[in-house]
Amino acid sequence: MKEPGTIRGAIRWAACVALLGLASLATTPLAAAPLDNAAVRTVRSSLGDGVVVALSEEGMFLEAVPQKGEGLYAFTRRLCGEEKWASRIMEANGGAKELSAGVRYRVPFDLLSNDWQLRAVRTLFPADKGQADGWRHEARGVGPLQREGIWQLALWFTGTGENFRAIREYNEFLEDDVPRGAVVVIPSELLRPAFRTALPVPETPYHLDYVKDATGEYAVYRLRPGEALYSSVVVRFTGRVYGNDVNAFAAELARLNGIPDVTDIAVGHRIRIPFGELLPEFLPAGHPKRLEYEASVRASAQFSNQVKAKGLEGITIILDAGHGGQDSGATMSGVWESTHVYDIALRTKRILEEQTAAEVVLTTREGSAWRIQDSDVLPFSRGHAVLTSPPYPIADAKVGVNLRWYLANSVFRRATAGNGDPQKVVFLSIHADSLHPSLRGAMAYLPAAELVAGSFGKAGAVYTSRKEVQERPNVSFSRGERVESEGLSRELAKQIIASFSGMDLLVHPFKPVRDKIVRNNGTWVPAVLRYNSVPAKILLEVCNLANEQDRKLVQTRAWRQKVAEAIVQGLRAYYGQDTGAPGQQVAKTTR
Ligand SMILES: [Zn+2]
Repeated sequence: MKEPGTIRGAIRWAACVALLGLASLATTPLAAAPLDNAAVRTVRSSLGDGVVVALSEEGMFLEAVPQKGEGLYAFTRRLCGEEKWASRIMEANGGAKELSAGVRYRVPFDLLSNDWQLRAVRTLFPADKGQADGWRHEARGVGPLQREGIWQLALWFTGTGENFRAIREYNEFLEDDVPRGAVVVIPSELLRPAFRTALPVPETPYHLDYVKDATGEYAVYRLRPGEALYSSVVVRFTGRVYGNDVNAFAAELARLNGIPDVTDIAVGHRIRIPFGELLPEFLPAGHPKRLEYEASVRASAQFSNQVKAKGLEGITIILDAGHGGQDSGATMSGVWESTHVYDIALRTKRILEEQTAAEVVLTTREGSAWRIQDSDVLPFSRGHAVLTSPPYPIADAKVGVNLRWYLANSVFRRATAGNGDPQKVVFLSIHADSLHPSLRGAMAYLPAAELVAGSFGKAGAVYTSRKEVQERPNVSFSRGERVESEGLSRELAKQIIASFSGMDLLVHPFKPVRDKIVRNNGTWVPAVLRYNSVPAKILLEVCNLANEQDRKLVQTRAWRQKVAEAIVQGLRAYYGQDTGAPGQQVAKTTR
């Protein structure tokens, strides 16, 4: 029998100690333990079928005997999952050219398939298990000191020694190695696939603890590997997304939590967030504000779209491109929101008209016809008008917005005149955000029922000269209408966002469907939704113009076309039809 691990292994262990620079170890006399003891310190456990897992100061590896008639490639496939590691296996066994029957060969842990990696660890460390936040490892101690180096653990469980620092911080260890019996949690983000897929699915995506002291009540969040204060705490838990808001509150949290440098916070650092700043869903279960929020979501969830429409037959879709005319919307590095969202609206209109039976109404137009520019970078334009009677060439942003909802309400009245079903009309306003530059992707706003109460109407010649305003100058909604609208709109928003995800278009990482805008310490519903009579209505932010990568994308035809396709796909899903004849072309692009 070949015994590949004896002498070479011992030399590697010595090299390993030197390489890892285990300072604490090197200063103890035991570090100079005789090299020829190495073989004795190898622990072996059988995995059955002639496969043995071994643990020594060198690390972890399998030893396996080729099965009857099994050549090198079949052997490699069995243990590594892929043949491409055959030469690495031979290298690990002294450079042999082929396998001999009855000989035990060594397979380094790194090369093993996910399955074997998991079996090896579970056999050697029977107390190990997956838990919600990561892999819980109980050290059994290796070598004369009966300790395990965190660098070594990082190699085993994450594949990269450099992760040792994050592991040490997460576990709040002060030393670079741990004694027998110590428990080490390797955070889920860092784990190799073999261990990550073995974790239980957590009940809640983020774990918060709650504390109370003389200064107030707080949620406590432990920062995970790769997370930053502004995005992973401020954006996620408080709902802030605008640059100034995010930065100001991140600074406030840093002060509250005694963090001198927000760019250098230890993994696992406990961040306290005052209750008053939390989104209601992150308050403790049973907190009055959380109960109130859950009750309102439940109330609106009773309403869901009952209309199924094949090919969107009989459906009226009101498409509203945000801004336009003198109102360019968000402008970042020469990219205007108005011209780009108008292009997306036109592309959406074209797909709907070519592939569905829906009636499409646009609220604005540039010039005398809807013309799609066949170019990536769009020319600046201030020629948009709201299509009221008479049209309003957009001079004032606020008037432009108000006339849109007056127009939408007029279209809605016409579409539902007689016995028309209100659920057969949807309103979709297309925008692009200007948020904290770290954020990317799409986000959809719907009207929170609690924020759209009251009665509203505009006075002044610019309004009263328009037929749509004369028809119905004032709007107000009953509580029932508001709750129903919230429910239908949330369903529509979820379908559109799901369609974006399904087509590999980025969506906002935290809460892509929102029932209000959070900005400057206030909350509100955008006016174009606030006074809009169409029950199912959303404002869709297709991307964040303040993010450089999103800004690059929006300046390509291909991306704008894909967004238009995703919108159409989402509308079809909302009307109960995500496959079917006219949708074939749309569906194809999702693959
Ligand atoms: Zn906008």
